This record gives sequence, C-alpha cells and structure tokens, in this order.
Amino acid sequence: MNESETFDIIVVGAGIIGVATAYHLQQNNPEKRILLLDRYLAAGQANTAMSAAAVRNMFASSTNQLLTDSTIKFIEHVQTELGFELMFEKCGYLWLLSEEQFNSEGVKLWMERMKRSGISHKVYDKHELKDMIPSLVVDFSNSEEAHLMNLKEVSYGLFGADCGVLDATRFVEFYFEEFKKISSVKPRFGVNVEKLILEADPKLDLPGEPFVWQDKRVVGVKTDKGEFRADCVVLATGAWANELLDPIGMDSRTKCKKRQMFVVHASDNEGLKQLLNTKGFNDMEVCPFIILPSAGVYFRPQIQEHGFWVGCGDKLGRAYKYIQTDEELVPESSYYENSMFPVLSAYFPDFASTRPVNSWAGGYCYSPDAIPLVYYENGVLVANGASGSGIMKADAIARIADALYRGMPEAELFGGKKIPSEALSIKKRKVETENVVI
Ligand SMILES: Cc1cc2nc3c(=O)[nH]c(=O)nc-3n(C[C@H](O)[C@H](O)[C@H](O)COP(=O)(O)OP(=O)(O)OC[C@H]3O[C@@H](n4cnc5c(N)ncnc54)[C@H](O)[C@@H]3O)c2cc1C
Repeated sequence: MNESETFDIIVVGAGIIGVATAYHLQQNNPEKRILLLDRYLAAGQANTAMSAAAVRNMFASSTNQLLTDSTIKFIEHVQTELGFELMFEKCGYLWLLSEEQFNSEGVKLWMERMKRSGISHKVYDKHELKDMIPSLVVDFSNSEEAHLMNLKEVSYGLFGADCGVLDATRFVEFYFEEFKKISSVKPRFGVNVEKLILEADPKLDLPGEPFVWQDKRVVGVKTDKGEFRADCVVLATGAWANELLDPIGMDSRTKCKKRQMFVVHASDNEGLKQLLNTKGFNDMEVCPFIILPSAGVYFRPQIQEHGFWVGCGDKLGRAYKYIQTDEELVPESSYYENSMFPVLSAYFPDFASTRPVNSWAGGYCYSPDAIPLVYYENGVLVANGASGSGIMKADAIARIADALYRGMPEAELFGGKKIPSEALSIKKRKVETENVVI
C-alpha cells in the first residue's frame, strides 16, 4: 500500500469559495502546508463558471448585507488598488416591482434594513422608469395574455448603485495566482475525493475502531490518486457537500437546485441594442441587472459580448436534486422557450425576435435560511450553502473560515467590520432568514 502524503490543511474544491479560503488560510498561516485540490482539471470550472457573475449588497438580512458588502468592496480593491482586472462594472441592480410588492411587509423590511446598514438604494416610479427605459412595458391592461400568465404590472423600481457584474473566472484567477505565490504546495487537479477518512481520536489501534464510545475526527481524504492526511480538511465542495458528509453521518443541511443561463445577443436587434445602452443608471451608460416582477425572470448586461444573460429563479415545481452526474445539469431550451421567454418578451418585447445563442446550467447550493454555512466540526471545516450568491460572498466566507481555523472569536472582513466566527455555524448560528433570493 502507498504511504499517504501529509499536509496541515487540505482544501477540497477549487471553486471561488475554495480558492478564496485557500488564499486567506495561507496568508494568515504562512507556515502551514496547504493542499488545494479539485476533481476538475482547473480552478473555477464548476458552478462558479456557470453563474451570472453578478454581485449585490441589496439583501434583506443584515448577515448577507455584511458578507456581500465587504466582498464587493474587496472586489473593487483588487481591481482599482491592486490593478488586477476583474471586469467589474458597477451597472447596478434594478428590481421592478408591482404596487402590491412594493407595499408588502417584506419589501418594507428589506428597505428599512438596507437603510439601517447604509446600503445605498433608490426608488424610481413607473414614469421615471418609462423615461429611462422606453421599451419597458408597465401597463398590461389590454393584454389578455399577461392576465392569463398572471403577470404583475410594474409600478416601481428599486435600484442599488453599488451592485454590478464581473468576470468570475478572473476573480478565481486572482485568488489562485496569489495563493500559488505564497504556498509551498502545488495545487492538484483531476483528483476526485472519494471519501473523508474518519478515525478514532485518540486512535487505540484496536481492530474495528472507531467504536461508538470513541471520539472521532476526520484526518484526511481518500482520493482516486491516493490518500492525503491533514489536521484540517476544508470542504468547499458547493453543491456536492452531501456526497462526502452523508457517508460519515454529518448533515450538510444543504440542498441543490438546478439553475440555467441563456445568452441573447443584441447586435442584430435595434431595440435590444438600445436597451443594452440604457442611460441614467450608471457611468458606463449600460442597462442594470434587471429583475422582473413576475416568475423570477431576470437578465444582466454582458458588455463584452454585446448582449444579455437571462436567468430565472424558479421555485415551486423545480426539484431539489442530489446531483450525481453532469447530465443532470444541462440547460433545457424548451424551458427558455415556454417558461422564460413569454414573461421576458411581455415586459421587454424587443426580446421577441431574438433567440439564445448559448446556454448552460449549474446548481444553487441552498441552506435552509439562504445564509451560508461555515463551521468547523470533527476536523472538517465546511464552507458552503451560499444559496445562489457565492461569488458575491466569497471573500467574507473565506475570512470567516480562516478565523475559525485559527480559533479566533471574530472574523475581520474587508473594510474592518467584524462578525462572530461562529455566526454562520450550525450549532451557534446567529442569522436572520434571507428573503431576497433570486
Ligand atoms: C445559473 C447560476 C447563476 C448564478 N449566479 C450567481 C451570481 O450572479 N452571483 C453569485 O454570487 N453567485 C451566483 N451563482 C452561485 C455561485 O455560482 C455559487 O454560489 C458559487 O460558485 C459557489 O462556489 P463554490 O466554490 O462553493 O462551488 P463550485 O464553483 O461549484 O466549486 C466546488 C468545487 O468542488 C469540487 N468538488 C466537489 N466535490 C469534489 C470531490 N469529491 N473531489 C474533488 N473535488 C470536488 C468541484 O469540482 C468544484 O470545482 C449562480 C449559480 C448558478 C448555477
């Protein structure tokens, strides 16, 4: 049998959360030997690459506000002060809301909490919206189809100017390159972790241990390329957390739901070109990330491709899945055609004559309260459950994971704000439920 290799920390998963965590751990624990590994052949190839790569601090829970606001500030710092191009553009987020939605308790609380946290936001009424986005349909009084589809009329727009879009791959590259500069261990790819190694603590070397009366902890990973051991195994495996935690009897408390993205080009469509070049919301004179009032449909501008990425946060009717094969995460063109497209083209008729040129799908890793889970138990440090917003929370999650590893009571986030290190844990969880999930 091959000898197992030994490290201080093994980070499983090189998505945005894994690379950010590896970087902060190495930065603050320079003497530790940290192995970063992934079953894909490069970093950031799984759900990080499938995302809409948009970032917002407009959340209803103060925890998500803190995590995202500090991560967005870090993104700005990387791009403007460190000079690492992330293609970060502050185009803003615009929620289109009906009268009823705008006056609901949920939206009032959301706005109140943003005000309290100093999250900048602005309300537009429908006349202002029509002036700025002439192609937006705000009145469905003569549309039987819209009534049939239960589409809500637009009365208000809630806009956040500090939100935007970036290139998620560049963000991964930033952490990965910085990690490699300071790490003495070369990251490994094409390595599949088959199971976590759970052993008795302390080990008595009795046949058949660990027994029920013994304490146990994870001491490493068994992979298709051999066994690796470490004092701490970080699981940044996103939507696949259950795969490794279930077999050792740890509940990841996360569930995965498929999400899809469709690319629509604006180049051959005058109306869409104008929509893309919407003025008044940001310095780049580009349309913001827009969320429609109905059915969870949204789109973001893709400036370099001269088009839009269109998605949908469908809820009831979309199954939670234990993702086992890549085939489960393929986009469905009929879903765009029959579900998203009728909604999209009702509010923005310019989309009617154009069809997607590309599409992909990935999985959201949901926690029960839509706040990430970060905890260190039994030798495993878990960082997942970002609930569809892991890129915009990555830096904060990684700093919390590092603080937990170092046994610090608080984690200092970028910009200086602090959060109790165990606030996102399972046992000492101290968070509000998030209601603004797209
Ligand atoms: C369609 C869509 C749109 C989204 N839009 C946004 C958005 O606009 N903004 C935003 O912030 N977030 C968005 N998200 C969510 C975001 O993509 C995720 O929250 C984020 O990528 C999670 O990062 P991660 O590192 O946990 O996961 P991943 O990027 O999935 O990385 C996990 C890694 O673990 C590896 N791994 C898993 N199991 C094993 C194993 N057994 N052995 C070895 N390696 C393993 C995988 O190969 C993978 O590379 C979106 C997601 C989707 C699907």
